[in-house]
Amino acid sequence: MNASIPTVDLGHGVQIPQLGFGLFQVPLAETKTAVAEAFKAGYRHIDTAKLYANEEGVGEAIAESDLAREDLFITTKLWNTDQGYESALDAFEKSRTKLGLEYVDLYLIHWPAPAIDRYLDSWKALEKLLTDGVVRAIGVSNFEPQHLMRIIDLGGTVPVINQIELHPALQQIELREFHAHEGITTEAWSPLAKGQMFDNPILVDIGHRLDKTPAQVILAWHLQLGNVVIPKTVTPARMAENFDVFDIELSLDDLSAISTLDRGYRTGPDPLELN
Ligand code: NDP
Repeated sequence: MNASIPTVDLGHGVQIPQLGFGLFQVPLAETKTAVAEAFKAGYRHIDTAKLYANEEGVGEAIAESDLAREDLFITTKLWNTDQGYESALDAFEKSRTKLGLEYVDLYLIHWPAPAIDRYLDSWKALEKLLTDGVVRAIGVSNFEPQHLMRIIDLGGTVPVINQIELHPALQQIELREFHAHEGITTEAWSPLAKGQMFDNPILVDIGHRLDKTPAQVILAWHLQLGNVVIPKTVTPARMAENFDVFDIELSLDDLSAISTLDRGYRTGPDPLELN
């Protein structure tokens, strides 16, 4: 791993770099270059999904890089239409092949998709992948406590991570408390609120004082809360900017000012409604 990136312990010897690189809406044709640039900037943790249709580009960038496989952390996700036991196993194998990897570091159920209601069978498939050694860790994304409880009640493996929409305008306090209680790591998607908060005066003021940008202030806030974050950018200067955050220390006053920005605002779908 790149020693400058803090890690979070997922148990069973698996450490996830706390800062990763997101790939939602990065077209396949641009993915290899974006991931290669991200590696150059120091990122070692890549977040993709079957839905993003760019897993091959991630695989090409890995194959062409001279980084050691064990220094990388690669996440991909099971799409809703592939939920179910056999279909999840098949979908994983397709993702793994596209990535060109022997193993994936973290495999997530992308959404609970409650109307489909097959996430318990999907979870059993993920447990088999874990037993088979083709994934190092398994988790979920966009799960609410009631969905997590049904998995926990199966009595098998508890998801190591729940990847959820989380940023200063959607701070997810209750869900984060639930995660802490159950030993689940919180991973933030759209950690920068898709760029919608960069002119917020509180973030701008803190940034001025620390000589950092609002994007860097937001990322430092996540890191200080203990969240794993996966900001996305295809712009190399922004990749470097988003990586230059490990020296930032927000004061208690800064944290309490940022806590006032929570307004339950989603940039993406509601997990209870997406199927
Ligand atoms: P982010 O909050 O990461 O914001 C990305 C946007 O911010 C892009 O438009 C990018 O522009 C811009 N940006 C990034 N850094 C900077 C900067 N320093 N200064 C100015 N603008 C900046 O949103 P995403 O929705 O992409 O979320 C991040 C990742 O989370 C995704 O890529 C994906 O991996 C994951 N995700 C997971 C979901 C799930 O359901 N599990 C759902 C959504 C996302 P540009 O690229 O043009 O530079």
